Amino acid sequence: MGHIGHLVAGERVAGASGRTGPVYDPALGERIGEVALADAREVARAVAAARAALPAWAATPPIRRARIMFAFKDLIERHMDELARFVTTEHGKTFDDAKGSITRGLEVVEFACGIPQLLKGEFSAEVGAGVDLTSFRQPVGVCVGITPFNFPAMIPLWMFPLALACGNSFVLKPSEKDPSCPLRLAELAHEAGVPPGVLNVVNGDKAAVDALLTHPDVAAVSFVGATKTAEHIYTTACAHAKRCQALGGAKNHMVVMPDADLEQATDALVGAGYGSAGERCMAVSVAVAVGDAVGDALVDRLAPRVRQLKIGPGTDPEVEMGPLVTAEHRDKVKGYVDLGVAEGAKLVVDGRDFQMQGYDNGYFIGGCLFDEVTPEMRIYHEEIFGPVLSVVRVPDYDTAVKLVNDHEYGNGTAIFTRDGDAARTFTQEVQVGMVGVNVPIPVPVAYHAFGGWKRSLFGDHHVHGMEGVRFYTRQKAVSARWPTGIRAGSEFAMPLVR
Ligand code: NAD
Repeated sequence: MGHIGHLVAGERVAGASGRTGPVYDPALGERIGEVALADAREVARAVAAARAALPAWAATPPIRRARIMFAFKDLIERHMDELARFVTTEHGKTFDDAKGSITRGLEVVEFACGIPQLLKGEFSAEVGAGVDLTSFRQPVGVCVGITPFNFPAMIPLWMFPLALACGNSFVLKPSEKDPSCPLRLAELAHEAGVPPGVLNVVNGDKAAVDALLTHPDVAAVSFVGATKTAEHIYTTACAHAKRCQALGGAKNHMVVMPDADLEQATDALVGAGYGSAGERCMAVSVAVAVGDAVGDALVDRLAPRVRQLKIGPGTDPEVEMGPLVTAEHRDKVKGYVDLGVAEGAKLVVDGRDFQMQGYDNGYFIGGCLFDEVTPEMRIYHEEIFGPVLSVVRVPDYDTAVKLVNDHEYGNGTAIFTRDGDAARTFTQEVQVGMVGVNVPIPVPVAYHAFGGWKRSLFGDHHVHGMEGVRFYTRQKAVSARWPTGIRAGSEFAMPLVR
């Protein structure tokens, strides 16, 4: 893969800061390239390019911006395999999963294709004598997207297509761990007709991010990543008077009620707990068994399934779970399993010593399953972001919902039950942004919005859907009176509707 640079003002450029970071193939455990880490001067160049391109792009009729989105959608579809290969090579997730994630991102591009309709304002005639009122939305300016390693295509696609369709220009700072796919997506956007400067990509780490957060010409910041980073992004961006949405980490609970279909619940837990090696912000990491009978039945069903997970390189079509993203992350996940044992949880399936034949240096770990996890344990509280599922046993529904609501994160949750009453009560009571009823990973489709509550999201707007349109635009209200012979005279009191 060699050197991965930036894309500024429509041109691929090599990094000039002198700093680079390693890019690995996690299945092989080999360094396959290096990514440029931008400094503040390179960031300033990208923001300057975005600012220069903004007026013409903002003035481009929405229907023309929509046509570019249609062309972009077509190019993503035609390059699907190439894009997914980048994701599998640098992230490690299976090829099918990579394609699925790109498709979820593509759906936001499809949503953005409808931008003329989405930007239609509101109009009221005769709000006062001879006065009409129009409210409509305009772009906010130069927007920034800072994205995590676990969805190198989907999460950038949550952001820049809609921001661009709304008439903004954009600077994307993807994860330095898997930068090739987002860079290729930006190239395809240019091929689709995005003018130079409207979409820029700077690779980098904290130095690049902080330069973006404090740059006076940046109007809005979208962030997805760990909660600690999200909090820093949100407080810094707000302190610099920028609009900000910062999505953070998660600990997603799946409540299994005594009347649930246990086969369905087991399938759901295996897919949602171990898919993408647990490196999903919507992964289920806690199974809440309501009653010991449910706990026993679930663990009996889960254990053999977790032991038999087909683990290997994401390029193998038979594989269900690939490696973790880096050796450092694999070691961190293993450390959590050690901690769980030390804290007294019962390790039913131990994947720590998993070795992948022929891929001896790969960052693999086997699936791990804990039973008898309690709310005081750190393995319960903290996000592990690996293939480690904890079963927590509770006596009843009320304790289950309290457990979910007491957790600091509120990204996703699900209830598995046949009881409509319990399901409805849960969806009303639970303090979580995205809720599934017999659906383990309730990621909303592109025309609805994605986002958590509590320490899973800092800011007021969720991403994509109408929330995304609102985030990337500002509302303006125009009251207009034309000289039709009505003389209002000079009004010194608060104007009233007459
Ligand atoms: P991360 O926070 O380490 O990195 C995210 C981005 O922030 C990267 O571009 C990185 O370069 C930058 N960054 C990292 N540390 C920084 C710092 N100190 N200052 C400024 N910028 C910094 O996250 P990650 O490890 O790439 O991704 C995994 C995390 O993302 C998990 O916690 C996961 O739950 C979360 N995530 C959340 C969602 C969601 O929708 N809520 C979706 C996907 C991932």
